[in-house]
Amino acid sequence: MSAKFGTASKSILTLIWFLWLCSCKQASRDSPPNIIIFFTDDQGYADLGSYGAEGFETPNLDQLAANGVRFTNFYVPATVCTPSRAGLLTGRYPKRSALHEAVLFPFSEGGMPLEEYTMAELLKTAGYSTSIVGKWHLGHKAEFMPLNQGFDSFYGVPYSNDMDNHYYSNIDFQSPPLPFYRDTTLIESGPDQDYLTKRYTEEAVRQIKERGDSPFFIYLAHNMPHLPLHASPDFKGKSELGLYGDVIMELDWSAGEIINTLKAEGIFENTIFIFTSDNGPRVGSALPLRGKKAETWEGGQRVPGIISWPAKIPESQVTNTMVSTLDLFPTLATISGAKIPEGLVLDGLDISKLLAQPGNQSMPERPFFFYARNGKPEAVRLGKWKLHISKTIGWDKKQQGSFEPALYDLSTDVAEEINLAKEHPDLVKELSSLITSFDGSLDKQP
Ligand code: MG
Repeated sequence: MSAKFGTASKSILTLIWFLWLCSCKQASRDSPPNIIIFFTDDQGYADLGSYGAEGFETPNLDQLAANGVRFTNFYVPATVCTPSRAGLLTGRYPKRSALHEAVLFPFSEGGMPLEEYTMAELLKTAGYSTSIVGKWHLGHKAEFMPLNQGFDSFYGVPYSNDMDNHYYSNIDFQSPPLPFYRDTTLIESGPDQDYLTKRYTEEAVRQIKERGDSPFFIYLAHNMPHLPLHASPDFKGKSELGLYGDVIMELDWSAGEIINTLKAEGIFENTIFIFTSDNGPRVGSALPLRGKKAETWEGGQRVPGIISWPAKIPESQVTNTMVSTLDLFPTLATISGAKIPEGLVLDGLDISKLLAQPGNQSMPERPFFFYARNGKPEAVRLGKWKLHISKTIGWDKKQQGSFEPALYDLSTDVAEEINLAKEHPDLVKELSSLITSFDGSLDKQP
């Protein structure tokens, strides 16, 4: 073979290799994306750098926001853990699953009904592998555990970290040390909580590295920053704010580890990375919003929300369009190509077009309903207006005696301070009947 021919054939081979690479890249951009939902527990609206946090830094999650879209009106359909998680995984208000009252405890017998069709079940029909790493909290009896709700694997704990080895004096019940599972097997009792964030992160990283050919869905539901707060030695004392800041900084590290792994594996571009929290803060901050966890004021249910998907979502987008975790189910159905079963009633909307053009795409105006910790509807938001019709006091599940309807214009009064109910009696009437009729329709469902 002449040297000349050798060079020519080398160039042709290089060209073929280059074209093949291009076609692979094209195929990977258009094939169903991997999906990660990075879900924290009780992290407040202001507990992230890009939302104004003070006393600690979250560079990885801030960079994630810069890679995609940051939502300033992102809601969860409950003020506490269990119902919020039911809503996320089903795309339905928790009352439809009868999980709208408070949370499940280690002494609870029930869980999310198996008839509920979860996001994991949906994504499996589109060929996804499905994994939950972290906290489940939708029923800890064997029949209600994640592998019976569409997940291929489970690595984590069945409920909140404060339910560890806890005595409930009201019913004279002693819970066991926090159970830690691998799939259906109890592998540990009372794990050292300092290492929970780290262990979940390492597991998620391992799963990404050892993935198969199919796209994956990883639901990474961290226990932190739910009380009691725990951080690994590497993060203790790291923030100016103290332990709470340390804990959030470790969560940010966790997000960074996962993002770096996706990049190293060459799949960051075509992975949807969704970051949000299950409800408002218990100890953190929701400022400038009013209220906290367990309250239907904005601070209880408006949370930080970031979605990155470099292949499809433009960079550095910020939108004030109102969306919620209920929208993720229909959105991921569209994006994954999964078919929503006929007759399944969903409460969210497909926001995939909004994700593609966050600054340039309006969503239809629709109400969002706020359910209190006692399961009662307390408020509705429609457009810029939010009406409260009743209120519980903090952790006390009793109705407050004399709550006058309170109407706020969130476009000028995000802190819900100036009650405009007297100025707009017709609006109060209209929004009030919206709540009554929606809640009544849930009561009548089969
Ligand atoms: Mg929570």
